[in-house]
Amino acid sequence: MSTKTVAIVGGGPAGLLAAQRLAERGWQVQLFEAQATVGRKFLVAGHGGFNLSNAEDAEPFAGRYGTESTRFGALLEHFSAADLRAWAGDLGIETFVGTSGRIFPVAAHKPADLLRAWLGRLRELGVEITTRHRWLGFVGAAGLRLRDESAGASREFIIEPTATVLALGGASWAKTGSDGAWVPLLQEIGMPVVPFAPANCGAEIAWSAFFREKVGRAPLKNIALRVKDGPAVRGELMLTDYGVEGTPVYALTPQVRAALAAGGPAVLRLNLKPDLPPATLLQKLRQPRGKASFPEFLKKTLHLGPPVPTLLREVAPEAATLEPEALAALLTSVPLPVMGLRPLDEAISTAGGIAFSAVDENLMLWQRPGTFVAGEMLDWEAPTGGYLLQGCFSTGAWVARAISEGWLPGKR
Ligand SMILES: Cc1cc2nc3c(=O)[nH]c(=O)nc-3n(C[C@H](O)[C@H](O)[C@H](O)COP(=O)(O)OP(=O)(O)OC[C@H]3O[C@@H](n4cnc5c(N)ncnc54)[C@H](O)[C@@H]3O)c2cc1C
Repeated sequence: MSTKTVAIVGGGPAGLLAAQRLAERGWQVQLFEAQATVGRKFLVAGHGGFNLSNAEDAEPFAGRYGTESTRFGALLEHFSAADLRAWAGDLGIETFVGTSGRIFPVAAHKPADLLRAWLGRLRELGVEITTRHRWLGFVGAAGLRLRDESAGASREFIIEPTATVLALGGASWAKTGSDGAWVPLLQEIGMPVVPFAPANCGAEIAWSAFFREKVGRAPLKNIALRVKDGPAVRGELMLTDYGVEGTPVYALTPQVRAALAAGGPAVLRLNLKPDLPPATLLQKLRQPRGKASFPEFLKKTLHLGPPVPTLLREVAPEAATLEPEALAALLTSVPLPVMGLRPLDEAISTAGGIAFSAVDENLMLWQRPGTFVAGEMLDWEAPTGGYLLQGCFSTGAWVARAISEGWLPGKR
């Protein structure tokens, strides 16, 4: 290989963007992907509304990355949501900002259209994409061991690129290739890897058989959810036979996970009437019920239809006989005791991965100069709302800049 060669391992959004930016700067880029095609999880992300990024202001945006918000502030400044929109536009994919601030491609553009246009651009730039090739580990100071897994082939070989970008993804939706099988390959060279945990996933609640049978799957719109006295998250909650799903639950996974890890109960508090001032709620509940049943009364006074009465009885069997004050307290803080999070493989994203202590400010491994890490394989998490893909894109752009500008082992 010539002196300006870079090997990128992993064909998700982080790896593909790093490939594009490096090729645009004149690097000879070779991308290896274990699956038969690249961008599988990227396409999966498009199934439920392809939320590429978010139009939120820079500071709260960076705050979505929790303990890594300062680092992501810099990453997002380098490759922002506006840059992402411009990038998509340059590929012929127009985007728009939805009412919630989320950024999507316009309806005419399917996720596959964006990926197709992107791969076309990479081809034009001379990026060589080699699929069905699995990275098996490091060899010496700069070598990568790879295996050709194409049909009928099982050939192992070694390459020695000038620089390497690992963009191997997290550990959910293994069928897309993001199986976390890379962990031992990094651990064997002494890299600290924080164990994976599900993020942006549903929570399990031990509903009674009666509740499961009667409610099954039902949405609760315009609710607010919180853990303990933490901030409330607004949105739609989905009751399922195993627990709860939906954007507010996903946003609270870090807090739920922490409460479960501390051994305490993780109780989600559900406010069914977050827009109603407490005094108004109480006034409504003080109205005489007459001959109305509990469900009829809730429906008439508060527009709370099924499955609310069943839910209230599930968590507080005496709900129907409560005094207005106690019922108001219950309606604004329905306790939902969480037994656990849904399995890792079901999660939209994963917490855990390569610890940031293992990389310098360029996201280069301290112990392996010339090897950079991007995307979800790093130990960060963010809620849904476009923050995941934006984080992957921004880390991809960041390592590309570090490589093209000549990386320097940074300071710890
Ligand atoms: C159901 C679902 C919906 C989602 N919706 C959204 C959304 O709307 N908005 C949003 O922002 N995010 C969304 N996400 C998250 C987003 O898709 C991921 O965060 C993103 O794809 C991660 O990008 P990545 O490049 O880090 O890794 P990945 O996309 O996981 O790519 C990693 C690649 O590395 C390859 N690989 C792994 N090991 C090896 C190896 N040893 N050798 C060679 N190749 C290897 C894998 O096959 C894979 O192709 C969603 C995710 C899911 C599952």
